[in-house]
Amino acid sequence: MSPRGLGSHMASQEQVKRYLAYWLQLGKSLVLDRGEILQPRPIEGDHYSREFEACWQRILAVGGENCYLEGTLQTLSDLLSETWDIADCARCTMPVPIVNMGVQPNGCPCFDLPTWPNTDLPSPRMPVDSRGQLEQIRRRLL
Ligand SMILES: [Zn+2]
Repeated sequence: MSPRGLGSHMASQEQVKRYLAYWLQLGKSLVLDRGEILQPRPIEGDHYSREFEACWQRILAVGGENCYLEGTLQTLSDLLSETWDIADCARCTMPVPIVNMGVQPNGCPCFDLPTWPNTDLPSPRMPVDSRGQLEQIRRRLL
């Protein structure tokens, strides 16, 4: 089976979700399909916040149509399509949309954050302890 058949060439829902969670942690807002601007705090302790999960469900419900991160041109439906992938910004290592098939970054949303990158601040992170998660997966497999 080709990798394309497995869907590995497109940004996964988890990648797009992480992209949003990271940028929300730097103070970016989310624009939803009816122009509603939201800024949920994405993380609560070791998991995504209920507020952020609710937002994410609303985004998925419309397939990301007309939903985007403030200051970016790509809608979330673009990012969830095969045309786009998520990679790391060369400047600040934050997750950024790139056109699949190409290597050119299409502009990281960090361009209008004068205080970023900042090594004195804690970096945005995923809500899960990956070691604990791996341990859980391993236990499930046994
Ligand atoms: Zn950047």
